Amino acid sequence: MNRFIAHNIPKIELHCHLDGSMSVELTKRLLKEMGEKYSKEELESALTAPMNCGSLAEYLERFALPLRCLQTKRGLSAAAEDLALAAAKEHVAYIEVRFAPSFSTKQGLSIREVIESVESGLKKAREKTGILTGIIVCTMRGLDAETNARMLKEAREFLDAGVVGCDLAGDEKAYPLSNFRDVFAAAKRYELPFTIHAGECGSAENIREAVALGAKRIGHGIAMSGNEELKKLLADEKICVELCPTSNLQTKAVRNMAEYPFLEFYEAGVPLSVNTDNRTVSGTTCTDELMRLSDAGMLKEAMCEKIYMASLASVFAGDEVKQQLWNKWVSMFAV
Ligand SMILES: [Zn+2]
Repeated sequence: MNRFIAHNIPKIELHCHLDGSMSVELTKRLLKEMGEKYSKEELESALTAPMNCGSLAEYLERFALPLRCLQTKRGLSAAAEDLALAAAKEHVAYIEVRFAPSFSTKQGLSIREVIESVESGLKKAREKTGILTGIIVCTMRGLDAETNARMLKEAREFLDAGVVGCDLAGDEKAYPLSNFRDVFAAAKRYELPFTIHAGECGSAENIREAVALGAKRIGHGIAMSGNEELKKLLADEKICVELCPTSNLQTKAVRNMAEYPFLEFYEAGVPLSVNTDNRTVSGTTCTDELMRLSDAGMLKEAMCEKIYMASLASVFAGDEVKQQLWNKWVSMFAV
């Protein structure tokens, strides 16, 4: 596949973190407004992880500065708009933007204000470009149960006003998934569909447990490699795996591209989507991710329709959005 096609075909991004996708330019501007001056070069190395990143923990260090900018209505709204505009520029037709509202309350914003601010930024991008958007609110492995529960309760009020689902993110190794059963029981009660970061750090059991808890999608899912039973389960249940190749290389979820299980999962019939995870921290775009798979000899142009349709079937937004996404693909390729 050539880059022109990867750039121009409609794409659906299901796994993209707001804090990890703040552009260097916007971060520089917001920090300057806070009285902190950084050069472009300083920010690039503070925000973008190297390919030979030591660990997931080292990767996660890159979120500190962006998070400081996400404590005000203006910062949240500007970051959301900036991200959706960048996605629209490379023909992402629909993006689900995820973030942890509880991490943006350090200067007094309420959960409600945090979500409203992000939605207002996304709305601006929708109006400017026609991109479709949804918000995924992240519960965090490192936060206590009460904080996560309180956030979800607030977020459900936005189910018809931007929020489409929830997620569990954070250090997978440090916190067992079983600690979060109540969180996902609440999500079910609130009718918030959810995805879980699982199998990024080698635990196939976490993927199995995420499915048992009712996850509609799995973030990363790399640990499913070599596990026939688990691949069959996800294929049968039509649970989409949100793959993020560059991020997985940086955090050492896989050692190199040759070992990346894209084709293994694809051939097992597991629904797959291709995502950036963090556009700035990983220094990537959806187009780059498709090209990384293509350059590794894994992705052919003819497979892109299947990826798009699998992503479409798994979006957390409603039927109206799905119909628009369907129309987008069909109109692009109508003879
Ligand atoms: Zn992620």
